[in-house]
Amino acid sequence: MRELKQQPSIENDKVVPFFNYPEIYRQHREEYVEVLDDVLSRGAYIMQKDLSEFEDNLQNYLGVKHAIGTADGTMALLMSLLALDIKPGDEVIVPTHTFVASASAIHHSGGIPVIVDCGSDHLVTAEAIEGAVTKKTKAIMPVQLNGRVADMDSIMEIAETNNLLVVEDACQALGAKYKNKFAGTFGVAGAFSFYPSKTLGAFGDAGAVVTNDDVLAEKIRLLRDHGRSESAVVTWGFNARMDNIHAAILNKKFVRYSKEITKRRELALLYDRELRNMPQMKLPPPPLDDDDHFDIFQNYEVEAESRDELMVFLKARGVHTIKQWGGSLLHQFDKLNDKIVKEIDYAENMVRNYLLLPMNTSLSTSDVRHVCNMIHAFYS
Ligand SMILES: *Cc1c(COP(=O)(O)O)cnc(C)c1O
Repeated sequence: MRELKQQPSIENDKVVPFFNYPEIYRQHREEYVEVLDDVLSRGAYIMQKDLSEFEDNLQNYLGVKHAIGTADGTMALLMSLLALDIKPGDEVIVPTHTFVASASAIHHSGGIPVIVDCGSDHLVTAEAIEGAVTKKTKAIMPVQLNGRVADMDSIMEIAETNNLLVVEDACQALGAKYKNKFAGTFGVAGAFSFYPSKTLGAFGDAGAVVTNDDVLAEKIRLLRDHGRSESAVVTWGFNARMDNIHAAILNKKFVRYSKEITKRRELALLYDRELRNMPQMKLPPPPLDDDDHFDIFQNYEVEAESRDELMVFLKARGVHTIKQWGGSLLHQFDKLNDKIVKEIDYAENMVRNYLLLPMNTSLSTSDVRHVCNMIHAFYS
């Protein structure tokens, strides 16, 4: 039998939003209504059983000793650094291609963000880190961006050689692995975010710290709850707990999480198949590219020729794309002083043509095909 040739899509009224919050709710509406009704009927708002269940779930999933639910990913990073005793003037190495929160956590802990380059997979490289180590360096914050883990073998080696702490910003990488080890479990602490558009998204802000260090875990538990131990306040703390209602929603979502990762990887594979032969576009490594990485595709970040024109073209055809961090790198925010900027080479070029294509679990394969057809149309 002859294979039927697929016609390119001509659905001009098709809309592919970058992210579809109402659709994410609609897909499992009854389940969520039930959770909300249950939690609200119990009046279980702050530090209740749903939170400890979520912490257990996260611990079991990652195979770590402690998971501590926090108000958001930024507080997870900040409290990790504070609990590790980062002091004024301590240098902490962080890539320039990251959310400002990575660096603001360093800043607010008293440390100085030392900003370095990324490599062709858009993640911080071991070479960039190594080149930035000084006598004042206290810690490294690798950012496991877009759902992929950096080359942690080399990074951990640099950390060991120079006696540096490693605090992972794994906010975009729950479930991603490097050599079969989970993002967030390499360093002394790992931070996660459950911001609504993250792969495991709450209905508001939420985050967590994971660690195998008992002392550190205890300190962070104190920090997130006003420094209160059972009978007294024992340190200056914050109000940075994860709301119980978010934990309850996350517990429900966690059940489906592995399936959702599979779906993201399938969509990434489809993007790769459809766009691989386009010389105008550089794609992220596809799933199954090498045995070391298991990527969860929080984002599908490409580099595209004539990026700005492409975005306008796509938008006119219902396809919404965005530039991560609004199109600027961390070191390019001039108003943020007290930072040290190292040689940045790859990222400076990348920022002129990088682009996020739609990537989320409410997309269908026909949505992705539509996006790809429109990209082909633009370049031809
Ligand atoms: C989302 C994110 C954060 C911060 O998480 P919030 O929960 O929004 O505070 C930090 N770093 C990276 C790389 C992120 O993507």
